[in-house]
Amino acid sequence: MLRIALQSKGRLNEESLGILRDSGIKVEESKRKLLSKALNYPVEVIYLRDDDIPHAVASGIADLGIVGHNEVMEKGENVKEIFKLGFGKCRLSLAIPKTENYTGLSYFNGKKVATSYPAILKRFFDSNGIDAVIEEIAGSVEIAPSIGLTDSIFDIVSSGSTLVSNGLIEVEKVLDSEAVVVAAPDMEAEKEAVVADLLFRFESVKRSRGKKYILVNIPNDKIEEALKIIPSMKSPTLLPLADKNWSAIHTVVDEDQIWDKCYQLKKIGAEDILILSLEKMIL
Ligand code: ATP
Ligand code: MG
Repeated sequence: MLRIALQSKGRLNEESLGILRDSGIKVEESKRKLLSKALNYPVEVIYLRDDDIPHAVASGIADLGIVGHNEVMEKGENVKEIFKLGFGKCRLSLAIPKTENYTGLSYFNGKKVATSYPAILKRFFDSNGIDAVIEEIAGSVEIAPSIGLTDSIFDIVSSGSTLVSNGLIEVEKVLDSEAVVVAAPDMEAEKEAVVADLLFRFESVKRSRGKKYILVNIPNDKIEEALKIIPSMKSPTLLPLADKNWSAIHTVVDEDQIWDKCYQLKKIGAEDILILSLEKMIL
């Protein structure tokens, strides 16, 4: 039985359970339970705070964990990152009050910086020869300058709206992060086989995210033009229609380009465009 540690609540909880679910693994999602066995797959899930996941994996309490790359870098535990999941994307950045005049990294010499990521920040300052005072605080880092606790912060940024609403401006990005699967350095062969199967499933789910399946009817003399608008993965799937002058193209398109592509296809004479959701993509 492979044990996988997931965040019990918080930003990664839902998407971590989501990738298991989309991989065909049925797990009881009770928030009050610490451990739950999958109904149809040899894994059990242990729910932990994200801070505890790297240590749980390094010490063998769990075989795998899903956690932010930022936590892995902060904790410095002996774990391997074996798969990038493509969700939980954010960055760790330095930010200062927007009224300040930023003069480059040397600005931080002698300044106080609030953060929940002291180890990453210390490494960054040390490698750049900056001598600043790091104040470790557990949460609400963004309010530290406005209450006079520190001059600046080092924190997670995604859209930047939290910074703006606290009168701060991002001045240096230090680390890009996303959720990753971590594993202990050594694993029994039997468990390795389950991990390989699990990552195969994760990969096919991840690949299909943000993609749509598109079916388009097109006059035969417009096929070439249409294929320039919607290139296929390998060779295009072209199916003849009952009307000999028409064909159907089936392919996969990035979701954020769907409207633009459909508009271009309509302009060259395409008809009956169907957009379907895509669950898995196995190449
Ligand atoms: P816990 O109670 O488990 O300790 P937490 O409060 O430390 O939770 P969350 O805020 O739930 O942590 O964030 C968990 C992880 O999600 C972060 O370490 C980071 O990798 C990622 N993350 C955080 N904020 C964002 C964001 N705004 N957008 C995307 N990903 C984020
Ligand atoms: Mg945490």
